[in-house]
Amino acid sequence: MPDPFAIRSARGFDPATGKVLDDLAIVVEGPRIAAILPAGAVPGGMAVHDCGDATLLPGLIDCHVHLAIETDDYQMDYLKRSAAHNALASLRNARRAAAQGFTTLRVAGDADRSGAWLDVARAIERGDFWGPRLVGAAHYISPTGGGGDLNHCPAEHCLRGDGLIADGVDGIRKAVRSECKAGSDWIKVLLSGAYMSQGDDPRRTLYSDDELHALVDEARRWGRPVMVHAHGADAIKRALRAGARSIEHGTLLDAEAIDLFLETGASLVPTLAIGAYYLDAHADSRAQAAMVATTRETLAHQHHWLSKAIEAGVDVVVGSDLGGYADASGVREFDELVARGMSAADAIAAGTHRAARMLGLADDIGSLAVGQVADIIACRGRPDEDIADLKRVAATWCRGRRVTDADPLA
Ligand SMILES: [Zn+2]
Repeated sequence: MPDPFAIRSARGFDPATGKVLDDLAIVVEGPRIAAILPAGAVPGGMAVHDCGDATLLPGLIDCHVHLAIETDDYQMDYLKRSAAHNALASLRNARRAAAQGFTTLRVAGDADRSGAWLDVARAIERGDFWGPRLVGAAHYISPTGGGGDLNHCPAEHCLRGDGLIADGVDGIRKAVRSECKAGSDWIKVLLSGAYMSQGDDPRRTLYSDDELHALVDEARRWGRPVMVHAHGADAIKRALRAGARSIEHGTLLDAEAIDLFLETGASLVPTLAIGAYYLDAHADSRAQAAMVATTRETLAHQHHWLSKAIEAGVDVVVGSDLGGYADASGVREFDELVARGMSAADAIAAGTHRAARMLGLADDIGSLAVGQVADIIACRGRPDEDIADLKRVAATWCRGRRVTDADPLA
């Protein structure tokens, strides 16, 4: 184990308490925070990383990524790629996210039948490679014709979808068991159609209540929380009533859905960054023309109701739906949440402490406190006051190891 060292800075912000600590030193021993001291109290002889006037924060958490989706035409790319390709791409893309400040990522299934990211997660966990903590679902479970199927390819070619296709109560139960066998921490299901896959309608609810309830029941017996992809209000409400732990996207929220979030305590992961990414820089994408058009149609509704959900106290957490695109960062999601009414400090909590709580990992990550894993970032400026400063990450430590010393992709 490397020697203990200290990270000193002018201030630290703990999103769990909302407190700002001035002129502090965080003592790191192995992978954890051993002490938080006044800067002058660091034991003599201990190595000190001096971050000057930066603000120290716990590492960021992106609760919705796809590390193997790297282009707009991802379903065609999926057919061209091997498991080995996806593993290497996932490692590179996870490291890129770490250099941007993300020390934990929840994978929401991927365009990859092999579940390659799980092997990457295990290799990082063993210490074979450095990288952020990866949790999540091996696959998105999808009905035939749903968002995880290849709807633009004739069935006679017998191609397997990028998702895990499952139909009927028995098929669903088997899919959940196979996800658990693969090592998924979460069960991800595409309850409604999706924006980015071809040939399905995001407004429709695609699984029956019988199928949905069987999925949640099976997941519960295996001790796995369920993350439900749901765009339409009907799908959102059915998922919340069935026992979803998180709703992904939740685009067409309404007042009844907000009440159900508050009643159930489920979290909402609105994934605004992906829509913003396409509208800003890739609105001319041919592969995503339908997604861009639907986003334009639904954006005003989503923004209006998301602001109401935030105001009402729904547990809205950070998830970008990015992860593979080389020209994008999940940090965009924080800007989007602030634009919808969150304070900068609350947006940081949404992507650290509250995200950790949703993941069931709050004892280990998401706050600046003694005993936590030493996932720490140093940002220039005051991101707790001006969220734009969250893009100014000067250093990242994953489990006590500084990862921006060298080329983040090395
Ligand atoms: Zn997604």
